[in-house]
Amino acid sequence: MELKIGVIGIGAMGRDHVERINERVNGANVTAISDINKDVATAYAKEINATFFENAEDLIASEDVDAVLVTSWDPTHEGYVLETIKHNKHVFCEKPLALESSGCTNIVNAEVEKNKRFVQVGFMRRYDRGYEEIKRELQTGSLGETLLVHCTHRNEYVDESYNTPMAVENTAVHEVDALRWLLEEDFVTAEVRLPKKQTTRTHPDLHDPQLILLETESGTVIDLEVFVNCQFGYDINCKVVCEQGEIGLTNPTYYSVKTERKDSTRVPSDWKERFISAYDRELQLWIDGVKQDHITGPSAWDGYMASVTTNACSEARDSGKIVDIKFESKPELYK
Ligand code: NAP
Repeated sequence: MELKIGVIGIGAMGRDHVERINERVNGANVTAISDINKDVATAYAKEINATFFENAEDLIASEDVDAVLVTSWDPTHEGYVLETIKHNKHVFCEKPLALESSGCTNIVNAEVEKNKRFVQVGFMRRYDRGYEEIKRELQTGSLGETLLVHCTHRNEYVDESYNTPMAVENTAVHEVDALRWLLEEDFVTAEVRLPKKQTTRTHPDLHDPQLILLETESGTVIDLEVFVNCQFGYDINCKVVCEQGEIGLTNPTYYSVKTERKDSTRVPSDWKERFISAYDRELQLWIDGVKQDHITGPSAWDGYMASVTTNACSEARDSGKIVDIKFESKPELYK
């Protein structure tokens, strides 16, 4: 039987997931949508043969919705996720789970109270083949102890609404989750350096680039460059330096061109192109999990840990100090 999905927020990401559910993955259909832009959403609902709900709470409660996908503005995530848990329905929430770690704690507490996982957070990098293969290789132990990780998260450009805090909250949050998952460790300190030299492509509200330093419980140090106006494409790198070798991502390339003594490969234009297979796998496995009433993807606890870490990065950036990352003990439900 097809799972009936309700989607809240049909901007860029919402529409991308609607298309994915209706056209690329199996076992589900979008039956309902809600968005604050009534006219646009009504027309879109007609186009995809879904019901438009002016009020997202009505969509969540609807009998025509088995599970909910939240792709609205970041500050609205917590409320919609809590409401969905109240109805004992599964919910896939795009990152961040909540803006502040206290919001994530509310969601964790709601699940713990029901002693059941309802929430999956949209950390799609865990479904990227490159990251998966690095994790598998590290687990074999063949490269020895992990010492350092060098990462870059570069976007070709961002628009004027993108500001300094977003480099941590919207951009680095992906590495924060992916590395925690990859290294199977939590972070204990955060530091953010704002270099004096910036790109001329930036604007007064954005410091670009930024350098984020994280240390794990065992002492592995991670440096992450976030450079969102790099001009040449969407460039994600992750190199893990171990005692006996190094392992890293390659950007997926589909062809190369050799001409005039040059050999060139394409750099993806954006996250949609770079991670398309990861998004597809992420949603397919979520749908399969919901149907079995057993989800295994990034949990509310992972959302909480990401939020605790990005909140510490923000504090580190504003204070110019190294900040200790403090978190609650993990409830039994997530062990
Ligand atoms: P977007 O294009 O601005 O879409 C958000 C949509 O939600 C807009 O139509 C917005 O209306 C609507 N909305 C705002 N408040 C609402 C509310 N209270 N109830 C219902 N609808 C509401 O943003 P986006 O790029 O799609 O991002 C959506 C979410 O996905 C964000 O949380 C973002 O962080 C996340 N995201 C994740 C990834 C990833 O790689 N996993 C990538 C991109 C985005 P207005 O147009 O009027 O604002």
